[in-house]
Amino acid sequence: MSFLHSVTVVGAGPAGLSTALECQKRGWDAVVIEEHAEIGKPVNCTGLISRSGVEETGLDIEKIKLNSVRGARIYSPNHEMLEVKRSSPVAYVIDRAALDQSMAEEAKAAGVKIMLETKLLDIRNETVFVEEKRRGGLLKSKVIVGADGPNSKTRELMEISKKREDFAHAYQVRVNGSFDAGFVELYFGSYAKDFFAWVVPENKEWARVGLATSNINVRESFNSFLKETNLEANYSCDMCSALIPVGLPLKEPVKGNVLLVGDAAFQTKSTTGGGILTGINAGKAAAKAIDDFYKSKKPLTNYSKYLKPINKELELHWKLRKYFNGLSNEKLDKLFVKMRKAKVGEFLSEHGDMDKPSRFIGKVLTRPSMWRMFPEFVSFMVK
Ligand SMILES: Cc1cc2nc3c(=O)[nH]c(=O)nc-3n(C[C@H](O)[C@H](O)[C@H](O)COP(=O)(O)OP(=O)(O)OC[C@H]3O[C@@H](n4cnc5c(N)ncnc54)[C@H](O)[C@@H]3O)c2cc1C
Repeated sequence: MSFLHSVTVVGAGPAGLSTALECQKRGWDAVVIEEHAEIGKPVNCTGLISRSGVEETGLDIEKIKLNSVRGARIYSPNHEMLEVKRSSPVAYVIDRAALDQSMAEEAKAAGVKIMLETKLLDIRNETVFVEEKRRGGLLKSKVIVGADGPNSKTRELMEISKKREDFAHAYQVRVNGSFDAGFVELYFGSYAKDFFAWVVPENKEWARVGLATSNINVRESFNSFLKETNLEANYSCDMCSALIPVGLPLKEPVKGNVLLVGDAAFQTKSTTGGGILTGINAGKAAAKAIDDFYKSKKPLTNYSKYLKPINKELELHWKLRKYFNGLSNEKLDKLFVKMRKAKVGEFLSEHGDMDKPSRFIGKVLTRPSMWRMFPEFVSFMVK
């Protein structure tokens, strides 16, 4: 295998594979290095993606779709409930490993090279030092893309440091029980400090039950969630424990000839932790900047320009997260009661968008029932 490529991508997740495919389609030969022996494994994800996002990115999920959900039931700490629902699907639960594998197949068919069991060790200018099947090796590229997830080695080599509070600790298991397959459930409470717990059904019998929190002892938090909600935890051993970036997206995701995409660049929604679709879209933005660089000698920092629409939404997600994290359990309970009276559930059923808060925030005060939320709206806006 040749070791000289136009683009070397570190990480064969959705963000890296999207970047590589789009570069290859534009004529820039791309190689992806992946430290694991199998694409998509281990799975550290719930695999919930919005229907609108799927349509926008043009992802073909027919073969990997396990369930369609049409709404969510959201519970406050003392179990005040807010229901958001539509008559047709709003989101899909997918086989996450199969998504990465199908993206890898598409990339390979387009000409992308994928090197498994190949781990990034170091980057020096245009040289990428790797450990390939336990042996040292190197690759050469004018452009290098770090798509190596929340614990990104590439980000570390770029000397971009992140704080502990920029991550949530997540824990998830598959539970066998009896579930409403059409609804996702979200729970706020002390067990999930600064985030929430979730029940995402694969079907009527199986659900992905998880929790994310700022508490580093996530397993302990998860156990108190199960206890408090009386959820039968007949879980199989299919579980994951991982980090979710919840800080602001990186303002400068480019240094020299190295770009960051996906979780590595904090391109994740801080409200929900979702980053599959934003990572794919950011990969497309990175490929555009790389194309400009090779074709017209434009700086790679143009990537930030192409990221603007994505970052605008991610910043709103972050603001919402900050707002909710600033509320005590008692205040959250009161807020839920107020939201129910203001018919926020009905409003979100009509206008809500789990990816793009800008699509509904501007409409909040257009409904008379929502005017009672004016003080909360103002306090959110000025935060
Ligand atoms: C518990 C949990 C639930 C989630 N649920 C959802 C959800 O329902 N919907 C949603 O949209 N998002 C969800 N997410 C977030 C989502 O999983 C991520 O945003 C998404 O995987 C980011 O894609 P990525 O390509 O940036 O990184 P990743 O998918 O993490 O891929 C990075 C790849 O880089 C590889 N790698 C790492 N280091 C190296 C190295 N040094 N050398 C070579 N390869 C390396 C890794 O092995 C991995 O394959 C969830 C996350 C967690 C933790």
